[in-house]
Amino acid sequence: MNSNLNWNIVIGLEVHVQLNTNTKLFCGCKNESLGNPNSRCCPICIGLPGALPAPNLSAIKKSILFGIAANSKINSKIQFARKNYFYPDLPKGYQTSQHYFPICENGEIQFFFNKKPKSVRLTRAHLEEDAGKLIHSVKNQATHIDLNRCGSPLLEIVSEPDLRSAEEARAYLAQLKQLIQYLGISNCDMEKGQLRCDANVSIRKNENEKLGTRTEIKNVNSFKFVEKAIKHEVNRQIEILESGREVHQCTLQYDDKSDSISILRIKEDAQDYRYFPCPDLPLVSIESKKIDKIKFSCPETPINKRLRFQKEYQLSFIDSERICQSLDIANYFENLSNRIFNPKEAKNLLLGAIAKILKDKKISINDLPISIEEFSELYQLKSEDKISNLNYKKLIRILADSNHSLTKILEDNNLIIEKDDSIMDDILEVANEHPKELERFRNGEEKLKGFFMGQIMRKTQIKANPKEIIKLIENLKILSD
Ligand SMILES: [Zn+2]
Repeated sequence: MNSNLNWNIVIGLEVHVQLNTNTKLFCGCKNESLGNPNSRCCPICIGLPGALPAPNLSAIKKSILFGIAANSKINSKIQFARKNYFYPDLPKGYQTSQHYFPICENGEIQFFFNKKPKSVRLTRAHLEEDAGKLIHSVKNQATHIDLNRCGSPLLEIVSEPDLRSAEEARAYLAQLKQLIQYLGISNCDMEKGQLRCDANVSIRKNENEKLGTRTEIKNVNSFKFVEKAIKHEVNRQIEILESGREVHQCTLQYDDKSDSISILRIKEDAQDYRYFPCPDLPLVSIESKKIDKIKFSCPETPINKRLRFQKEYQLSFIDSERICQSLDIANYFENLSNRIFNPKEAKNLLLGAIAKILKDKKISINDLPISIEEFSELYQLKSEDKISNLNYKKLIRILADSNHSLTKILEDNNLIIEKDDSIMDDILEVANEHPKELERFRNGEEKLKGFFMGQIMRKTQIKANPKEIIKLIENLKILSD
């Protein structure tokens, strides 16, 4: 039995993010994997001789935006290079990527792990094109190829080996995904392969020792699987070293069906991709003015938003995490609290009644059938004691389930509290119906307040405001019959 505790685990991640540009990285083909196989390609993206690529400026801008948000250095000159390797899903025989002059160098991703702040350094982030897809058909005993994905823009984000556990790697990935979604540069749909991850794993006896031989787990497309795959690989390496053998550099794959890893190929040396600058693509200069312009448009990062919400709206650590999970929810919270001038109420509403409606109806916050104006109007009614707290909640649910306006619902359901003397009449009636209890109450039995309260609520069908009733019940002590 091996023990993780005796080992220092070292993990670095390479994350491929498919940018959500309209067209592919070097041609005008649509950047989407929909449509019939091989219907979204042209001579450029499948590399026919003589076809000339041109870089997609939108992909470059989106990559710069990421670099700014991750505190990276944006290079003033970027160069595309050919990465030569042979694989059937790569019809050109090389992948156009970046080698010596990537768009972004250095940088960091900050996040919380076990409630503690953690920072992972980035080595670089560069642009490259995606390959096609091989589809293996057991039925036809054949492998088909779909080149629709060929040439889609990928931003490869490479971290330094700063992660120390599988759980930490998962938390880093979650933060990275959140940041990218806040920036709006990719949809990050992992099921569609829009965010894929390679994990480099090695172990050593302690933090000060030099890094051990690392292995690479390829192309994992779920946070859960990344965590599981890393755990398996750490255990495999521990077992090897504890039995006195050596870890060999290799590439592994994770199979989610059997929840296991297997070796794809043993690497004797780092693969030689014979990189060279792409002769068809010019060196791209990025003016500092352009970078400043993008910087100006860079939205608040999730971590900064969380910290600001904690300070500005007094949200707890956990509540800020839940609310900032998605930019839409965070924006909604901010609108709502500004509208009703009460962040605590906005938080309770969002994480309570609204979260339940979203879950029940399986919709996103943008499809919520209640407008912020209606929430604000409802809150106003509650603050002015025109509706009871119970009816406030009831009304939210009715609003969510009907197509009518708040005014119509209020009329139809007769939920507005009657502020006139009729409540006092009701209270007196209840008191007359229970003379013995009234007598005891007048003689100082305070607990009978609860008894009267229950009777009155029943009589008024909860239309009355409890705070007001309590005040009015007090009057029974001094009022004559
Ligand atoms: Zn094309």
